Amino acid sequence: MRCLTRAEAVERAELLAVESYEIDLDLTRDGGFRSTTTIRFRAARPGASTFVEIKPTTLVAATLNGVQLTPAMVDGNRLPLAGLAARNALTVEAEMAYSNTGEGLHRFVDPVDGETYLYAMSFLDQAQRIFACFDQPDLKAPVTLSVTAPPDWLVAANGAVAKMDDGRHTFVTTQPLATYFVTLIAGPYHARYDEHDGIPLALYCRRSLAADLDKEAGELFTVTRQCLDRYHELFGVRYPFGRYDQAFVPEFNAGAMENPGLVALRDDYVFRSAVTEGQREQRTVTIAHEMAHMWFGDLVTMRWWDDLWLSESFAEYLGVRVTAEATRFGGAWTTFAMRRKATGYIADQRPSTHPVAPDHVPDAAHALLNFDGISYAKGASVLRQLVAWLGDEPVLAGLRAHFAAHRFGNATLADLLAALTKASGRDLRGWADAWLRTAQVNTLRLEPVIVDGRYETVHVVQTAPESHPTLRPHRVGIGLYDGGVLRQRVDADVDGVRTAVPALTGLSAADLLLPNDGDLTFAKVRLDAGSAAALPRALPALTDPLARALLWAATVDAVGDNELPVADLVALIVTALPAETEAVVVADVLRMSRDLLDRYLDTGQRAAALVHVAQACDRLLRTAAPGGSLQLATARGWIGATVDTARLAGWLAGAEVPDGLIVDADLRWSIRYRQAVLGAIGGAEIEAELASDPSALGQEWAARCVAARPDPDAKAHAWRVVTSDTTRSNRIVGGYAEGFWQPERPEVTESYVERYFSEMPAAARLRTAWIAEAVASLAFPRYAVASTTREAAAALLARDDLEPSVRRAVTDMDDGLRRALAARSSA
Ligand SMILES: [Zn+2]
Repeated sequence: MRCLTRAEAVERAELLAVESYEIDLDLTRDGGFRSTTTIRFRAARPGASTFVEIKPTTLVAATLNGVQLTPAMVDGNRLPLAGLAARNALTVEAEMAYSNTGEGLHRFVDPVDGETYLYAMSFLDQAQRIFACFDQPDLKAPVTLSVTAPPDWLVAANGAVAKMDDGRHTFVTTQPLATYFVTLIAGPYHARYDEHDGIPLALYCRRSLAADLDKEAGELFTVTRQCLDRYHELFGVRYPFGRYDQAFVPEFNAGAMENPGLVALRDDYVFRSAVTEGQREQRTVTIAHEMAHMWFGDLVTMRWWDDLWLSESFAEYLGVRVTAEATRFGGAWTTFAMRRKATGYIADQRPSTHPVAPDHVPDAAHALLNFDGISYAKGASVLRQLVAWLGDEPVLAGLRAHFAAHRFGNATLADLLAALTKASGRDLRGWADAWLRTAQVNTLRLEPVIVDGRYETVHVVQTAPESHPTLRPHRVGIGLYDGGVLRQRVDADVDGVRTAVPALTGLSAADLLLPNDGDLTFAKVRLDAGSAAALPRALPALTDPLARALLWAATVDAVGDNELPVADLVALIVTALPAETEAVVVADVLRMSRDLLDRYLDTGQRAAALVHVAQACDRLLRTAAPGGSLQLATARGWIGATVDTARLAGWLAGAEVPDGLIVDADLRWSIRYRQAVLGAIGGAEIEAELASDPSALGQEWAARCVAARPDPDAKAHAWRVVTSDTTRSNRIVGGYAEGFWQPERPEVTESYVERYFSEMPAAARLRTAWIAEAVASLAFPRYAVASTTREAAAALLARDDLEPSVRRAVTDMDDGLRRALAARSSA
């Protein structure tokens, strides 16, 4: 599929003004669907030419201003339009294909009951897989949708149903929408309805999840109401799209998608098994994030994808903030500090790093690559820093003015900066250059000079990598902790290489000095020598979960940079993790340290380290409250680390299960997965587990388990699916890719290292860009830590026929290898 370039989008936006879309979809046909679209649009220069995008199986007919166009003129996904009039009407009728990739009109058959479910995902440039359109974010227009579906189906879309008769649904005309927001769901969906503050609310899911959704509906509606109220308070602009429906849909690629009036969320969020409070918090943050997009993205849309951050950074910042302020998940900033920011720091230090607001995104394919930790977590952190610097009121006043000026239109970075400058009275150009226009991350270290137990001086020393030497202004807190308790927090405006903090002079020295206490800025932090030495003692005693999260994150980061040996992290897990009380911290420490253990240690060292990790989990399991989040997070960590196959089998049989821990479907599967990795079960056990849980999630787990078995036939099967099978869905392919590489028995997959580099370029071309990047990352031989693997990666990257998604995945994964090799050679 040829993707739109920025230059083409600019030219087309200058030429066209789209007035309306009338879309008619017939979903009652076999094999595919019929799409008939009429677009009314003006052209600034009559006589000029342009093109419309559509990706049909067969283009049936097209007319422009009553004149028939030859269907054979369609060139890939583009239908040329010549001799435009001042006002035009284009009608395109086409046979279209359903997808199994989570993009376009995705078709899913529920393995539990055989029911069929459809949903539309138009993001990023996939609307053209559903209807003919000018598929770029700044040609917005009202949409009138009609859908013919089987009479017993529920059909919902961006607007409310205006008329329904025997399966024929006509929806009210929407506010102006960017093409990438046009959506619908169709199928025998289960629904729950409510209303809040004059806004109709709905929740949808598959019938086989109905009982689970009904259990969750109370919490889902509650947080939806709380977030709506908070956004109304913050923005002073009411929710502008009528209904607020949320559809939990199968095999979704992202967490969710902010379609106005009908948000799509992955239906993994309809919890069927026990979950931690952290998972509930994450679901709430997702709900709040999508709702923020109703203003940032949907009401005011970026002109082109280079301003993606205007959507995602704001949605991420506000999603966490509004969750923390308006819902019962008051600790959302702690999770952000530990989990989300780690993705930002990692992405920002990779060779593929880019500014939060990049200067140039040449086309839609490159735009997709920027949906990463930089556009989300770094951008959100930068906004938090902006609020710390300017104050909340000026920022909110600027945002309100921005919404008013660009309501239902498009805007750019310059527009937003103008609004914020006017509201705050501050010149933001220097700030924007440092924070938005330059890539990479600074490191902040404290340099205290202590005389007779008191600080004589304390400096904050700021550094930047040689490749990106920008130093930035940071407003930070510095925490003084004694015996685990915060004695005092001092604010500092860091600027340049060395910043003195006079407020600390004369104070008695603390046990531990924490730079960036409160987590207001985006910077790596390193402790001074005295605080580092005190860490193993101080960390378990700290009462503030955010401070603990920051210290764990800094430790993991230092190990990732090879400034600390992995052994130090393992030792800290042994001393400090059993005292941890936050499930989120336990889950993330275990997940992040596992990644380092798996790649930075050789097989023998790794096995020894895992024994320590499993023992630390075991100690925590003995004290964690029965049935609580901490117990569940720890149990998952233990399952992932243990090699005690007898005890794993015992838990499945109900033997010696910790009191209060429910071994339900998903926990059973995580045990099965570990057994598969260890070679303790074969295909028969996986089949038996699938027979008792044939659900969609069960199918994904089974794919992961099959791929994980250290068995040549299982590996061959998994590899075939990953590299050549297009009949299976995105999630199943992803499951096979995820399970394939395991550090346990590298000899079983040795021959696939070379095959990855020779086969992936062609394999990726079988997939859409989104799936290609996921597969290229997941199937990368991440545990083949050897210079020969890096040489193969370099040879691949030297080719000029790589899809951008594969180039990005290999570049970043190779950088992970570089770090792992350095760690192993220094060990
Ligand atoms: Zn988003």
